[in-house]
Amino acid sequence: MSLMQVSNLGKSFGGVKAVDGISFELRAGELLALIGPNGAGKSTTFNMVNGQLKADAGSILFDGKELVGLKPREIWRLSVSRTFQIAETFASLTVVENVQMALLSADHRLFSMWRKAAAYKRDEALGLLEQVGMAAQADRPCSVLAYGDVKRVELAIAMANKPKLLLMDEPTAGMAPRERNDLMALTKKLVTERNMAVLFTEHSMDVVFAYADRMIVLARGRLIAEGKPHEIRDDPKVQEVYFGS
Ligand code: ADP
Ligand code: MG
Repeated sequence: MSLMQVSNLGKSFGGVKAVDGISFELRAGELLALIGPNGAGKSTTFNMVNGQLKADAGSILFDGKELVGLKPREIWRLSVSRTFQIAETFASLTVVENVQMALLSADHRLFSMWRKAAAYKRDEALGLLEQVGMAAQADRPCSVLAYGDVKRVELAIAMANKPKLLLMDEPTAGMAPRERNDLMALTKKLVTERNMAVLFTEHSMDVVFAYADRMIVLARGRLIAEGKPHEIRDDPKVQEVYFGS
């Protein structure tokens, strides 16, 4: 089932066509990787989906709604969460407080809730932390956590919005191979348990081949290949632009 349909999406910066009319679909419950060499248009595409950049051509139909023209916050309200290349948490808050904050801001009755803030949805936050293996560290400040653990907290925060789609820009950047695999295995588990889809950009071919259900390959703003990892691996067009052979 198609969750998101991207059609003829385009964005130029000055004279540079950063993304030049790409089309692809994202299916419910899949991990779709967005790959390509530097400057291919991955981040530009990603940022059009999350609303940080406005497309100047084409459409992004998500769950029956047009995302082009919506602000990041409006897109987030449609159950689209995201993580950041550098994981972002409130360092001075504890692990569980970070997730409580996310639940608080996902709650539309926000303001009436402030007074009860300390107790606010603590159990629900602990439940989310349980799912990412961080419940035991719930009351430590985020500032003392190992980076891989901050990434886990960030995932719990993203889950507070009950996402149908999770956007991850280079989720494994700056991580050791072991941490990378832990994070992607956790992501895969969440995808399965929650029937959520993931769109992620990724540099590491190992990660993509091990965890993506499908992938799309960009080069110079164009979509040059799309398919399952084993189909893409041997595609001569991909070999040429991506692996430089
Ligand atoms: P990737 O993430 O695949 O490395 P980007 O989407 O960041 O690629 O960039 C695609 C192209 O658009 C590159 O040529 C880049 O220089 C250009 N570009 C990206 N963002 C901007 C910007 N804000 N202003 C001008 N040019 C940009
Ligand atoms: Mg990029």
